[in-house]
Amino acid sequence: MQVLAVTPEIFPLIKTGGLADVAGALPIALARQGVSTRSLVPGYPTVLKAVKKTAALHRYPALHGGEAVVFAATVAGLDLLVLDAPHLFDRVGGPYGDTTGVDWPDNWRRFAALGFVGADIASGAISGYHPDLVHVHDWQAALTLAYMRYGPAQATPSVITVHNLAFQGRFGAGIFGELGLPAQAMSLDGVEYYGGVGYLKAGLQAAWAITTVSPTYADEIRTPAFGMGLDGLISMRVDDLHGIVNGIDVEVWNPAVDASLKAGFSAKTLKNRTANRASVEERFGLVHDDSPLFCVISRLTWQKGIDVLASTLDELVAAGVRLAILGSGDAALEGALLAAAARHSGRVGTVIGYDEGLSHLMQGGCDAILIPSRFEPCGLTQLYGLRYGCVPIVARTGGLADTVIDANEAALAAGVATGFQFMPESGDALVHAVKRAIAVYADRTAWSTMQKQGMKADVSWHRSAAKYADLYRSLVARRT
Ligand code: ADP
Repeated sequence: MQVLAVTPEIFPLIKTGGLADVAGALPIALARQGVSTRSLVPGYPTVLKAVKKTAALHRYPALHGGEAVVFAATVAGLDLLVLDAPHLFDRVGGPYGDTTGVDWPDNWRRFAALGFVGADIASGAISGYHPDLVHVHDWQAALTLAYMRYGPAQATPSVITVHNLAFQGRFGAGIFGELGLPAQAMSLDGVEYYGGVGYLKAGLQAAWAITTVSPTYADEIRTPAFGMGLDGLISMRVDDLHGIVNGIDVEVWNPAVDASLKAGFSAKTLKNRTANRASVEERFGLVHDDSPLFCVISRLTWQKGIDVLASTLDELVAAGVRLAILGSGDAALEGALLAAAARHSGRVGTVIGYDEGLSHLMQGGCDAILIPSRFEPCGLTQLYGLRYGCVPIVARTGGLADTVIDANEAALAAGVATGFQFMPESGDALVHAVKRAIAVYADRTAWSTMQKQGMKADVSWHRSAAKYADLYRSLVARRT
C-alpha cells in the first residue's frame, strides 16, 4: 500500500511538537506492516540543508506568487517529497513564525499551497505515483482534503490526525477567493467556519476517517469542555473517529544504553538507578536521604496544570517527598516554582530551561514523575517514565488515562499497576495521589513490582503502527 503523508513537521528535520515525532516515526514503523509512505513536507531552510536536491518531479510556475518545485529525497529512512517554494518556506525563523515567535502573516497562504500540492500529487501530478490513501496532520496540512474533495482525487481515501485541537488554522473570509476552491466550498459542509475559513474544520469535514492520539482524547473532544468549538462536528463524525496512542522511540529512550545516565539499568538491575538518583540530587541541590524523589519535566503552562502543582508544593513537601522540577514556560509559573525551591531548600529544586540530557537522567533516577495536565492528547513523558522505571503519577485525562494503570487495590493485588491516576484540576486529588504513592513506596517490594510492570509495557510504535495500518486497509477496502 502506498500512502501520501502531508505534514508541516517531521523529525529529525523540523520539530516544534509531538506531531513531528509521529510524522517521523510512523512511516518507519508502517514499513514493517507493508505500508510504504512518502511524506510531503515544506522546504524550510532546515529541510533544504538536510537533503540532497534532486531533479524536479513536478513544477509550478506560479504557486501563490512564486515558482515552486517538488523533488524527492531520502533522509533517516524517510521517503520525502519536498515542496521547494522559497517565497513561502525558505525564511529565517521557525516553521510558523519569525525568530521572535510572531506568526507569519501569510500562514494561510503557505499552508494553502501545501494543501493544494498535496491534493495535486494525490491526483497524479507526479508521473507513475498514485497513492492509495492520503494521511494529513493537523490544520497546516488539512486543506489538502478540501482540495481533494472538490477535485479529481475525491475518490481517494483519506485520514486526518489531530495532535492538539487547540490549534485550528482559522482565518478571515477574505482569503477564500485566493484559495482556488469552488464557490460551493464556502459552506457549512466545506471550509466555512464561524463566518471565516477553518482549515482544521475543513479537514475534519472532508476526511474519510479522523484519528487523534489517544482513545480518551477522542472521547473528550466530542464534549464542549475539550472540543474547542469543534465538538459538534466531531460528534457528528463519531463513527469515523479513532483514538490511537503514540509510541516512543525505544532506541533513543533505552535505559540500558542511555549515554545521559550515570548508570544504565534494566528491570533486573533497578539498583543501578541509585547512581542516577544521586546525580539528580546533586544537580537540583537536594539533600541525600531515603525519602521518595519525584520529578516534573514539562512545559510550564496552564494546559499542563503547573498552577495546580504549584499550589500544592508545601503540602507535598510536608507529606515527605523531595521534588526535582525541570521546565520552562509562563514567567509567573517559573517564578512560583523558583520561590518554592527557595522556601524548601534541599527538598525542592527547580531548573528553568530545556535540557534533553537532564530529562533522561531524571527519568532514570527519580522514583516517580508527576503529570498534572488539564488535558493531554497523548503525552510522552509518562511513556518515558514507564520505560525508565520512573512511576507516573498522572491526571486522569487523554493519553495519560489510557497508558497508566492506576494502583487501586485490585491492580496492586494482581500486580498489574504501573502508576497513579487522579482527577485533573484538583490540588486535593493530586496531593492524595502523591500520598498513595508514598504509601506504596514504603513497601519497596510493591514499588519495584510497579516499576517492573511499567518497564514491561509495550510503549514502542509497533502496536500503534499496526492500528494505523488496519485503519488504512479498511478505508482502501471501502473504496473498492
Ligand atoms: P507536549 O508536547 O504537550 O509538551 P509531551 O509529553 O507530549 O507534551 O512531550 C513533551 C516532550 O518534551 C517530552 O519529550 C519531554 O521530555 C520534553 N520536555 C518538556 N519540557 C522539557 C524540558 N524543560 N527539558 C527537557 N525536555 C523537556
